[in-house]
Amino acid sequence: MRSGASSVQEFPAMLVEWFRKEGKRAFSFRGESDPFKVLCLALMLQKTKAELVDRVYRSFVERFPSPEALAKASLEEIKEVIKPIGMYNRRAKRFKEIAAVLLEKHGGKVPRSEEELLSLPGVGKYSASVVRCVAFGADNVLVDTNVVRIAKRLGIANSAEQAYAALERIVPKGMRKEFNLAMIDFGAKVCKAKNPSCDTCCLLQICKHKGANRSKRR
Ligand code: SF4
Repeated sequence: MRSGASSVQEFPAMLVEWFRKEGKRAFSFRGESDPFKVLCLALMLQKTKAELVDRVYRSFVERFPSPEALAKASLEEIKEVIKPIGMYNRRAKRFKEIAAVLLEKHGGKVPRSEEELLSLPGVGKYSASVVRCVAFGADNVLVDTNVVRIAKRLGIANSAEQAYAALERIVPKGMRKEFNLAMIDFGAKVCKAKNPSCDTCCLLQICKHKGANRSKRR
């Protein structure tokens, strides 16, 4: 951990440092940048823990590595692969719809723009941002409920809109992809919704919430 007084402005660098040294969870999809696979991954991660998605991701992309392969597959084949992550009926239909739209309207490629991504079935703002950042290297920050929780605890925002504006202001361009990935793992491993691990947190010295958590445990 760094010594001396740190301000909240420094938290992106502190978080990335933690991520590089000890934060990364070992997932089979770590480092994936193929736009189609990242899109499928983003859809699987909707309302689903990364650990569960990790169990099916590799077999999914091996069996359906492209929109063509997904379009040719039967609903039953897709369901069989994604069953462990739940909501598999709805998700299998979604995958078929997406494959059809990619083939019919985008030449079998995942589009790059936010507008076009949002026009794909089941793709919301967060999933579109994940694809733009992870697959296309866009310098956008990602904000979901985990990020809002962390931003609130750090005292930099009280809502998703404020968190987005604050992170756009604080997180330097060029660092945002790694920062986004770091926030995902930080929210899962350290600053969890319940019982955050404040005592060993790399942001302890700048966090406004640490005292509240400690006094609750006394
Ligand atoms: S000190 Fe605790 S509440 Fe604050 S960021 Fe770290 S884990 Fe989260």
